[in-house]
Amino acid sequence: MSIFESYKAPQGVLEIGGLPLPRLAERAGQTPFFVYDRSKLGERVALLRQMLAPELRIHYSIKANPMPALVQHMASLVDGFDVASAGEMRMALDAGMPARHVSMAGPGKSSQDLRGAVGAGVTVTLESAHQLEAVERIGRELGVRPRVGLRINPDFQPRSSGMRMGGGPRQFGVDVEQAPALLKVIAERDLDFVGFHVFWGSQCLDPGTVIAAQRHVAELVMRLADLAGDSLEFVNMGGGFGIPYFDNERPLDIGAVGAAMQEWLTPLRRRLAGTRLILEFGRYLVGEAGLYVCRVLDKKVSRGETFLITDGGLHHQLAASGNFGQVLRRNYPVAIGNRMDSGQTETCHVVGCLCTPLDRLADNVVLPAAEIGDLFVVAQSGAYGRSASPSAFLSHPLPVEILV
Ligand SMILES: *Cc1c(COP(=O)(O)O)cnc(C)c1O
Repeated sequence: MSIFESYKAPQGVLEIGGLPLPRLAERAGQTPFFVYDRSKLGERVALLRQMLAPELRIHYSIKANPMPALVQHMASLVDGFDVASAGEMRMALDAGMPARHVSMAGPGKSSQDLRGAVGAGVTVTLESAHQLEAVERIGRELGVRPRVGLRINPDFQPRSSGMRMGGGPRQFGVDVEQAPALLKVIAERDLDFVGFHVFWGSQCLDPGTVIAAQRHVAELVMRLADLAGDSLEFVNMGGGFGIPYFDNERPLDIGAVGAAMQEWLTPLRRRLAGTRLILEFGRYLVGEAGLYVCRVLDKKVSRGETFLITDGGLHHQLAASGNFGQVLRRNYPVAIGNRMDSGQTETCHVVGCLCTPLDRLADNVVLPAAEIGDLFVVAQSGAYGRSASPSAFLSHPLPVEILV
């Protein structure tokens, strides 16, 4: 797989951050573990800054990977954080991100979430009329004038996107049709209105879809800008950039996306001089910088097919297993990390240690002939891995996470 070609493997042993995989396993103190690569995180942010218009601010959505050391590192690379809970908010602030560059989204914000955000001076992205009332009340109680944004459910549907999160009826944000009335209420209240947030989708690999969505968002923001007065500090235009997980997927052509931006950026800049234009990303920033590593515990043959049984599984890396039964399950890019240049291959199934047939890490995959004790590696594991997997399922130990 091409992703593994971006790693060094002297003597056939995968290296991350200059350390061979077996040393990393010692450092982790166990398998399974996730390892995240600082240099890849830095390269990804640098690529975005190079290919996109330089004035665009890049925010990181902490939910993609909330490991504290990684969040800390991201704080030095990006311009802001998007958080979805009071817990993520504390992580963002602990990492040193100024509160004015942190915004909290989420269709269901508890009063603890809101008190935390208002108290800290973080921007609360309102997603309903009820949230507006709750935030104002909390602001009064705390003697703080809340900073609020408004999340808009757009009136367009992206053509294709791994996960649509805007257009049509949604639990996210308020419909753009409802925005004028809400903006009027916000203006009358004891609230600082600071920006719009339009999030249209996720895991999109088609540049045409991203370009069309960004153009739509820009048009929508131009329409709304007149209603917002001159207080618009920022416009968060969403993200949506995907990463290739499967053999049939190609990386997003980010050059094409960057080149198409001027068309909407020029009028938007003219209309909204001084407003920060933000793109927010989760998986695109961190997904390709992480590997999941587990150890081959057993190897057996059943009716002519070879099974590698590992100490990992879907309780740590749910998405690679196929999310409890994807319609069509596909393999993530995988490797035997200590046999990267082995000529002798075999076709096998790689499974986890859980007592369910759904616990599969690779089906019918051609790999170097592995032995018990080898290190099995799943790439594209930097986002939605540990924190998005059912780790309590079967009561095995948690995976360790290291950042190198
Ligand atoms: C989940 C989420 C993101 C991140 O999505 P990715 O696909 O990881 O880039 C960004 N913004 C919002 C509002 C989200 O809910």
